[in-house]
Amino acid sequence: MNQLIKQSQDFEIMNQVKNYAFDYMETANHLEVFPDDDAIQGLEAFNEPLPEEPDNPYTILEQLHQKGSPATVKQIGGRYFGFVNGGIVPAALASKWLADVWDQNAAMYISSPIVSKLEEVCESWLISLLGLPEVTSVGFVSGSSIATLCGLTAGRSQLLKNLGYDVAKQGLFGAPEIKVVLSEGAHSTVYKALSILGLGSERVIKVPMDAQGRICPERVPKLDNKTLLILQAGNVNTGAFDDFETLCKAASEAGAWVHIDGAFGLWAAASKELKYLTKGYELADSWSADAHKTLNAPYDNGLIFCRHREALISAMSMSGAYIVVSEQRDGMIYTMEMSRRARAVELWATLKSLGRNGVGALVENLNEKAAYFARQLSERGYIILNEVCFNQVLVSHESPELTPEVLKKVQNSGVLWCGGSSWNGKPVIRISVCSYQTTFEDIDRCVEVFSRIREEL
Ligand SMILES: *Cc1c(COP(=O)(O)O)cnc(C)c1O
Repeated sequence: MNQLIKQSQDFEIMNQVKNYAFDYMETANHLEVFPDDDAIQGLEAFNEPLPEEPDNPYTILEQLHQKGSPATVKQIGGRYFGFVNGGIVPAALASKWLADVWDQNAAMYISSPIVSKLEEVCESWLISLLGLPEVTSVGFVSGSSIATLCGLTAGRSQLLKNLGYDVAKQGLFGAPEIKVVLSEGAHSTVYKALSILGLGSERVIKVPMDAQGRICPERVPKLDNKTLLILQAGNVNTGAFDDFETLCKAASEAGAWVHIDGAFGLWAAASKELKYLTKGYELADSWSADAHKTLNAPYDNGLIFCRHREALISAMSMSGAYIVVSEQRDGMIYTMEMSRRARAVELWATLKSLGRNGVGALVENLNEKAAYFARQLSERGYIILNEVCFNQVLVSHESPELTPEVLKKVQNSGVLWCGGSSWNGKPVIRISVCSYQTTFEDIDRCVEVFSRIREEL
């Protein structure tokens, strides 16, 4: 036991991890974006029984770097275009390291005054940056999956409360029926939230989308005060934004609750050039977003925004004799979790290091590069299926049946990585430009790969 304690006080290990981290940062961009077969084979090293005795921290770390680092997806470089994963701005990464050393519990003011302060500051900065209503409350969660769950929980509970029903106490059995309306293009995490919440993932009204993936406003059924309407800022395939102005106004008049899933797209509101996409979105009731996507903050950094503070905190409420809710900000009252890591630290550092203009420039830059990528691919004979409006490029081979083959070859090239999806029932290649590290030269290199593959086929 003494040995264990001695080890844990031996913080020299931080120098070792610093060397490994620098080594990784220097080499990552020169390695295969998706780990090669050798690297994957190397993971066998982790298949060992639970050690009976304490092990040496230095050799543990060595194993992690030697066998683990090669098997990472090199998304901190400039040629990763999978999902909508972003990079990490340096100030955020370094702050996260410091916060790791602090090991704070972000639950309450008394468990961490500094994190409580930074949550408060981020809340007000984000509201200003995104042009959300001044009264908006913000909860700091792991990602959009949880943020959406928080927003829909608040909406469900508030709609039922307006009808005189306390769902937190009575449960859903015997509750008035909530009508859930969403787009055919809603993200899978929205369905997950609905199923967890007892609203059912199939008991919903799916509204058709137009050719760009926007919900068709004229196909939305009549909204009323029992309706939960879920809209999208950034369709996960095309990047398109729903018509918030029309739909939020109608919902507001009808007494419906609107939640906007803006996991990567909400950040458009921070750009002078792109905020037209979010027009009218401030009339919604709740919004979810990920700072670990377009904003290039590290994982995991999700946000729930809610216009109705009472609705959010009563939906998330809990109590216990030892819980001291204070006059200060107690972060846990806005989220599902009690104990949480101090993710507001790196979010604060990201926002401070970019500033309002920096965030705007970042968002515009990503979109400009996506548009460039699309133009280059189109000039080489590929078909671009969407109007590139926000970060996303949907690509097909002119013979759609060859698209999966192109994708496989692209992924195996090691030069870049992007994922696949399906659009209008056909397989497509989905490129998301989300990292500030991506340069035009990176894109040129990637386009060469696409070009070569097309000639080979
Ligand atoms: C990524 C994403 C989600 C899920 O967010 P997580 O942070 O992975 O939980 C939800 N909706 C959209 C549109 C997304 O892009």
